[in-house]
Formats: sequence, C-alpha cells, structure tokens
Amino acid sequence: MTLPDYLELRLLAEQQSIMAGRVPNRAMQRLRPSLADASGETEAELRFALDPFRRPMVSGWARTELSMVCQRCLQVYRQPLSVRFDLVLVRGESEAERLADGFEPLLLDSDRVSTVELLEDELILALPIVAMHLDERDCRLQAGELAASGETGEQLKPNPFAALAALKRKQV
Ligand SMILES: [Zn+2]
Repeated sequence: MTLPDYLELRLLAEQQSIMAGRVPNRAMQRLRPSLADASGETEAELRFALDPFRRPMVSGWARTELSMVCQRCLQVYRQPLSVRFDLVLVRGESEAERLADGFEPLLLDSDRVSTVELLEDELILALPIVAMHLDERDCRLQAGELAASGETGEQLKPNPFAALAALKRKQV
C-alpha cells in the first residue's frame, strides 16, 4: 500500500486515523546527498489523534534500508534504519513548550504536511554520524584498491561529518 502524498493532519486526527504503507526512497530529496543510491522503500505506520489542547498528534514508526558509502572501506553497504516518533503540530515556539512527555514539536504553517518530508526528517535525524559497515569484517576492500579499480567518482558521496568525526577519534 502506498501512503498518500499529503497528510491533512487535523482531519486525520479528528478521525483518529491509522495508516500504514510505503514511500519510495528516491522521493526523499534532502536525504539523497547522504546516499550512494536512492533504491528501496521506507515502510511506515502513522497514528493520528488530538492532544489535550486539540492539536493534531502523529505517532508512528518508519523503517528502511539505505544504500550508503562506508567511510572506512568506501564500499556501498546497506544501512538499516528504524525510527519511532511522537509529534504534535504546533504553530510557534511558545506552543512548542506545552508538550506531553516524549512528544516533539512539528512546526508547520498549515494542517497539511508532505508524507515524504515528514518521514524523511525522522530518518535524517537517525542517520549514523559516520556511515560505516556495522561489522568491521565486512570492510574487505581498502580505499586504494577501490580507486585502482576505477569505481570511485560521482557515486561516492562522503558524509561531510566523517572527517570531523575522524579528527575527534584521534584526539581521544
Ligand atoms: Zn566498510
């Protein structure tokens, strides 16, 4: 099942809707620079309700597997990502202070939000600081060998935080 392109948050909250489905990862434009390729889908479940101030809430989870470039061996690997979220629609900073425990503000000008952008924001927050094979033994090829094989180039999108993280590790 495909999720709708846009979520009418107030309407869905009043109906206490529950929906589940998928969106293609290639639709996530802001996530794209962190990926080796935009293959795959994100599976998600969303539950809507009103909070005590009658503001729309959206709770749910999303999970996917992203193609990322390992910053240790420069090979593409599959990074599983799984997030849970509890959001309340707020109009401004002052409203954001009156939130139930565990809820995060979703700051919007309207009641409508793009499904892809909502899920994408949650995934971006959960990205690893340094993209890397989960198991070091999976890093088979060294960077030099990869360069020699001619497979470097535009498919490599190093995480801009990787160099910084490497510096930090050296200082420890
Ligand atoms: Zn690796």
